[in-house]
Amino acid sequence: MTGYPPPPGFAARANVGPEVYAQAEADPFAFWAEQAGRLQWDTPWDTVFDDAEMPTARWFGGGRLNVAVNCVDRHVTAGRGDDVALHWVGEPGDGRTVTWAQLQDDVCRLANALTGLGIGAGDRVVLYLPVLVETVVATMACARIGAVVSLVFGGFSADALRFRVADTGAKLLIASDGQFRRGAAVAVKATADEAVAGLDHVEHVLVVRRTGEADVPWTPGRDLWWHELLAAHPPVHEPASFDAEHPLFIVYTSGTTGRPKGLVHTTGGYLTQASWTHWALFDAKDDDVYWCQADLAWVTAHTYVLYGPTSNGTTQVLYEGSPLTPHPGRHFEVIAGLGVTVYYTAPTLVRTFMKHGPELPAGYDLSSLRLLGSVGEAINPEAWRWLHEHVGGARCPIVDTWWQSETGAAVIAPLPGVTVLEPGSATVPLPGLAAAVVDDAGEQTPPGVEGNLVLTRPWPAMARTVWGDHARFVASYWAPYAERGWYLAGDSASVDEAGFVWIGGRIDDVLNVSGHRLSSIELESALVSHPRVAEAAVVGAPDDVTGQRIVAFVITRDDAGADDSRLAEELRAHVALRVGAIAKPREVVVVTDLPKTRSGKIMRRLMADMTAGRGGGDTTSLTDPGSMTTVERAWDAHAALRDRT
Ligand code: ATP
Ligand code: MG
Repeated sequence: MTGYPPPPGFAARANVGPEVYAQAEADPFAFWAEQAGRLQWDTPWDTVFDDAEMPTARWFGGGRLNVAVNCVDRHVTAGRGDDVALHWVGEPGDGRTVTWAQLQDDVCRLANALTGLGIGAGDRVVLYLPVLVETVVATMACARIGAVVSLVFGGFSADALRFRVADTGAKLLIASDGQFRRGAAVAVKATADEAVAGLDHVEHVLVVRRTGEADVPWTPGRDLWWHELLAAHPPVHEPASFDAEHPLFIVYTSGTTGRPKGLVHTTGGYLTQASWTHWALFDAKDDDVYWCQADLAWVTAHTYVLYGPTSNGTTQVLYEGSPLTPHPGRHFEVIAGLGVTVYYTAPTLVRTFMKHGPELPAGYDLSSLRLLGSVGEAINPEAWRWLHEHVGGARCPIVDTWWQSETGAAVIAPLPGVTVLEPGSATVPLPGLAAAVVDDAGEQTPPGVEGNLVLTRPWPAMARTVWGDHARFVASYWAPYAERGWYLAGDSASVDEAGFVWIGGRIDDVLNVSGHRLSSIELESALVSHPRVAEAAVVGAPDDVTGQRIVAFVITRDDAGADDSRLAEELRAHVALRVGAIAKPREVVVVTDLPKTRSGKIMRRLMADMTAGRGGGDTTSLTDPGSMTTVERAWDAHAALRDRT
């Protein structure tokens, strides 16, 4: 293999060296116990791992700690109170710098206020907020008093919010008066009201003033202003200790494969893996300016903004806005302006930048960057190389991190000072973790052959259940390989000769053409490597002869018309060359948009249903429900044309 070795200067200073793999492998439980020692425990644990109630694991049984103390107070106590915790950048251009001491003050005020509202350990609090300092404060205040927090994307509709508020049975909703969306202030309090109407378990709605809306609808007695409530409470709060297995948060999956699941994460094991993986993967240093651009409501930001980096005392950037507002170079402007050293992004955004060409990042001084990360879907090799060269100046390792809401923290990912990178592969399981690719009978597939990705050893940050539906937790992930005790990830993958894992897409998205299993990601990467294609989604439509036929939906970089039959021919030839003749898309449909979740994942399920003539899938997680209408129109026009010829 060719590959990209870590730059020698980077490797020499890296937090983690190659010896950690063998050390962890020799005794994974001792390894995790050592990492748990990075945290401040009020009561030490008796048992590192207990499998009596598997698949609900128990880690660090008997141990007690407070997450907010670990993520905030500890740094103040260590004399770093005046260091910057957060550089917050607002969408309209406003900003705020928050030190650890200031963060501690607000967390304590809110912890006191929440207690005053009758919220205690185990009660649920839902946040419906943009990316604000207040969002971090609220998350930490909940942790401080043992309330279980659930963050809902600020762009979700009243229905999507209502489902999550009702599902969690929340006592409190924290929302804002309004939000900035692509440059415009939009009122949202009315949406929050609609979402909680008639839900008697919601006792209060706490409102953060963000956009300064004029007529905020108000229910006296129920609604409270954040700034008034905080001002009325002292910035000192005595934290309690919570059991290592006390629930910390509920995070809903992005719903690409069905109704979103509310995964429950707990305290000690979760924070241990969040903290260690952030430190190891992102090589966290005290002088870093770290930026994970995920929305706070997505699991990525839970682990790699809210809990992991804060536990390590890392200075972070929080950016409120959409990445392309007010201009496409906004992220690069922020990187240059704040001297960002580590930038953790997503393939969908990289492809968006690519549409603008390398001139876009070239217009900014990005020399402060030393490390890049990617998450959310497999990164197309083309996008990886573009990011590496045009954003990372060919000097920054890229950590491609495979993980899920269910795993709680990164599972398969390179160590930036150790691993020789292969664009498109998340490489190998992290120290202490174990994965395999197996067939339905549980036999390991030969190198290069697709199968089911399973995790074969428990890990501290594993989800403990699906909120309110433990049977679904067991059935979705644990029943298929119950005898072996393996976790079924739901992704299809293959392992190469070197042991590197290549994610092929969701098991549900795997295509089967004349008995050949084809990975959606591999076909999409082939399409995206064509100069005229910016984005691609591939689905299998039912076919009498071949079982499935490949339909490719592509967004072009130029303005190819929907009836551009030459483009279809070009792409077929291109895919045949890159993957093989069997992988040639039968149909190519040019679209202007693709249905995506708020975390940027393509909802292939909806398009597959459409090509099969089935409709009505769950669309509550879509960023823009209108995107599916656009695709349906293009599909109908394409089908009409196809059936005429
Ligand atoms: P649902 O489970 O409801 O369908 P979801 O799986 O999209 O939602 P998440 O937990 O946010 O919700 O996403 C995890 C999935 O994202 C993984 O199972 C995998 O398919 C994909 N993924 C994330 N990171 C990577 C990566 N680095 N490489 C490949 N795939 C990735
Ligand atoms: Mg999933």
